[in-house]
Amino acid sequence: MILQKKYSHVIVLGIDGAGSFIKDADTPNFDRIFSDGAVTYGALASNPSISAECWGSMLLGVGPEVHKLTNSIVSAEPYPSDSPFPSLFRRIREAYPDAELGSYCDWNPITYGIVENNIGVSHDTANDDVLVDIICEYILDKKPKFLFIQFDSVDGAGHKHGYGTAEHLKRIGEVDGLVNKVYTAAENAEIIDDTLFIVIADHGGTNPGNGEGGSHGGWTDAEKYVTFAAAGKGVSHTRIEEMNIRDLAAIVLYAFGIGLPVFDEAGWTSQIPEGLFSDVNISPYRDISHLTGAAPRVSKIAHTSELI
Ligand SMILES: [Zn+2]
Repeated sequence: MILQKKYSHVIVLGIDGAGSFIKDADTPNFDRIFSDGAVTYGALASNPSISAECWGSMLLGVGPEVHKLTNSIVSAEPYPSDSPFPSLFRRIREAYPDAELGSYCDWNPITYGIVENNIGVSHDTANDDVLVDIICEYILDKKPKFLFIQFDSVDGAGHKHGYGTAEHLKRIGEVDGLVNKVYTAAENAEIIDDTLFIVIADHGGTNPGNGEGGSHGGWTDAEKYVTFAAAGKGVSHTRIEEMNIRDLAAIVLYAFGIGLPVFDEAGWTSQIPEGLFSDVNISPYRDISHLTGAAPRVSKIAHTSELI
C-alpha cells in the first residue's frame, strides 16, 4: 500500500568506516549540503560494529541478532530472495514494480549478499574514485528512484593508519569531494528538489596510536557512534537526539510512502527518528538499546580494494 509519497527519489551515500569522524575532518561539501538539514554524529551502529552486520541492519531494518549476516556470509552467499526480512530494494520493488533502483558499492558483497539478486537492481562496483563517475553517469541517464552507494576507501585508511588519524581524516576530506560529485549529478539530472539525500556511516574504528592501524567490531565510542545526515524538503533543520543506523530502512520507506512493517523485537526494529521530519504523525521513538547485545568481535579485515 502506498501512503502519501514524500519524495520521488532517495539517494543514500554510505561512507564505510567514517564513524563520527566526519565532524573532525575538513568536509566543506558535506557542511554545505546539510547546512539546512538534520545531522547527528551520535547515531548508534549495530553490534558488533562490523560492515555486514551494520549495512545489513540498514538495508533490512533488523538487527544482526536477527539477520545473522557476517562479512564472510555476504561475501559467499547471495541474499535469499525469499527471506522473511526483505531488503529495502525488495520492499520498494514490490511497491513500485517499474522503478529504477541502483546499488553501487565499492565493497560489492553488499550488493551481492544483502540485496536480492533477481529484482532488477542496477549495480556496479569499482574503487571509490572510479565508481563515483560511473554513479554520476547513472544518475544523469536513469534518474533512479532509489540509489544506494557505499564508498570503502575511508575504512581502508582507518585499517591502515588508525581511525581518527590525520590520514583517515584526510581520506574523509577526499571522499567529501565524491559526495559533492554525486550531489551535483543529482542537481544536473534535475531531481535534487524531489530527492531525500542521505549520508551515513556504518561504524567507526579504533586508533591504537602505535602506527599499527585500527580495527573495529567492538563497542567503544569511537566504533559505535556514527554520522547520519539528511537533506531535502520536509527534513527539519535539527540535530537528531537519538537514532540507530537500522532506522535508515524506516526513513527510506517513509520517504516513498510505503507503510512500515509492524515493530517487533524479534524482527523489524527500524524507526523514524524523532524530529527528523516535520510530520507530527510519526510514532514516538522506542528505546531498543537492550537489543544490541550481540557479542562484539574485532574485525581486522581490511575489505577495501585499495589495500589488496
Ligand atoms: Zn564497514
